[in-house]
This record gives sequence, C-alpha cells and structure tokens, in this order.
Amino acid sequence: MEKIKLGISACLLGENVRYDGGHKLDRFLTDTLGQYVEYVAVCPEVECGLPVPRESMHLEGDPISPRLVTIRTKQDMTDRMIKWAQKRVAELEKEGLCGFIFKSDSPSSGMERVKVYNEKGMPVKKGVGMFARIFMEYFPLLPVEEEERLHDPSFRENFIERIFALKRWREILSKKESRGILVEFHTKHKLLILSHSPKHYQMMGKLVAKAREIPIKELYQQYQAILMEALQLKTSPKKNANVLQHMMGYFKEQLSADEKKELLEVIEVYRKGYTPLIVPITLIQHYVRKYDQPYLKEQVYLHPHPLELQLRNHV
Ligand code: SF4
Repeated sequence: MEKIKLGISACLLGENVRYDGGHKLDRFLTDTLGQYVEYVAVCPEVECGLPVPRESMHLEGDPISPRLVTIRTKQDMTDRMIKWAQKRVAELEKEGLCGFIFKSDSPSSGMERVKVYNEKGMPVKKGVGMFARIFMEYFPLLPVEEEERLHDPSFRENFIERIFALKRWREILSKKESRGILVEFHTKHKLLILSHSPKHYQMMGKLVAKAREIPIKELYQQYQAILMEALQLKTSPKKNANVLQHMMGYFKEQLSADEKKELLEVIEVYRKGYTPLIVPITLIQHYVRKYDQPYLKEQVYLHPHPLELQLRNHV
C-alpha cells in the first residue's frame, strides 16, 4: 500500500515555525506513524505571511466566531487568516488527504477547546483554531485529530483505523464505479463497522441490499458518508466483545466445548478491562487460520492497521 497522505501542523514535524522560533516535534508522529504516512505540513500563521519569531496571538470575543488578535499590540489578524485559509483548503483538496493532525490549543490550528478570551480577559475553553475551523467545515468527513489526544491509546487507535479505512476506500474510488466492488468492500469491512456502531452496520446493510435500485453515484456518496460517520464513533470493550462473540459463532461446529469455554473466558476478561484487545483477537486469528474460515479471514477487523503500530496492545 502506498503511503497515506495526511495534513499536519508544521510545528509537530519539528519545523521551527512557532511564534517563539521553536517547534513542537512529536516523535510518535514523525518516527512511528511517519513510516506509513506522507505528511503535508501546514503552518497557518507563517503561510499567511507572518514572520518567525512573531508576537503571540489568541482568540477573543464570541467563541462561535472569535477574532484572532495579537496579545500585546492588539492587531486583528482575523481577515488575513480567513482569506488565506479559504484559498489553502481549496489547494489541499488536490492533495487527496486522508486526514489532518492539528496542534492542540493553538488559536490557528487547535481543533477544539481552544481558549477564547472575553472583554474582561477571562478565557473559556470553547474555541476552535481559525484555520482548523475552516478546514473542518470544508472537509466535514475527513478524520481529524490533535497530537495531544493521540497520546490517548483509544483516540490513537480510532484515528489510525479511520485513516487506513479511508485510504482503502479511496482505492475503491480510484477504480471504475461498480456495485460489485462496493459490495466486496462492504463485506470485508462489516465487522469493523459493527465494532463502531451496530446502528450504522444495519443502515449500511440495508443500503447495500438495495444497491441496484440506487443510481451508482448516489450509492457511493451515501455509502461514504455513512462509513465515515460510523468510524467516527469510538469502539468500546462492550462493542468489541459483541463482535468477538459474533465471530465465535462461525466456529460453532469446529470448536470443542472446552475451546468454546476458553474463548468466551478470554473475551470476558478483555471486556472487563483486564487484558487488551490483542489477546482475544490473537486467539480468534488462530482459529481463523486453523479452520481456514473464508468469511472471517477476509475481515479487515482482524487487521485494520499494521501490527507494528501495536495499537491493540493498549486498548
Ligand atoms: S500551532 Fe499551527 S500556527 Fe502555530 S506554529 Fe504550529 S502549525 Fe504554525
């Protein structure tokens, strides 16, 4: 698989673009995830024409539509930033990004809970960085995250799973539209979708079942929207345990009573939080291989991202 293209706040790659001339290098993003992705670096403040170093700025006013203002000399950078950002997102559309990693807390790049100051100089953590807002409005379905939340194993796993899923979906989009190809994609992703949302799993099942009645472009659009919406919802031990038990049903005939008991126990221990997801997954993979279960061995759920990232060792 060719590398996944991701947008990223430039300072996270170690570029010295911050107001104080420094950076915010994140080693996980560069050294680990960087093996699988190609980054497109964006520094809104430098790209809109501000120097390094520069006066620091913050958001002021109404948290819904704040102004971007320098802290000491009170220069209003809002219009300059908006004009640049609107042009930049249109350029980024040509890059075919599968997601964006934003720098947290930044008035330009923060994705959520950015401080917005009122007229008395008191902050509320309800803002969105000015570029991040314009980006997310322009690309509502793209996976986005902040580097800080990616330190949390469950957010990390969710985000990385989504960018890999989107990359696979983009490969489908690069081929000639075909209901057969879409159904094949859906079949392989069924259990992954179920692990995020049983409701979306049902919706997508119904959509695919009436695929022949829907014009193909509309079918693709509807499918993509529901897929991205489903994967945005986080998995949980309860949802994963449900999928694992569902998978166990495929070995009804082959497993002995003792093996079934052991597998159920392993799933239950995981559900209670005593072991990570990789434990029951490994046991299921063992049975899939041993009994050569054709449906399960095609399931992306069993290998949604490279094992080397060890994402399921921590959730
Ligand atoms: S947070 Fe955003 S605007 Fe600030 S230095 Fe990093 S990339 Fe540039």
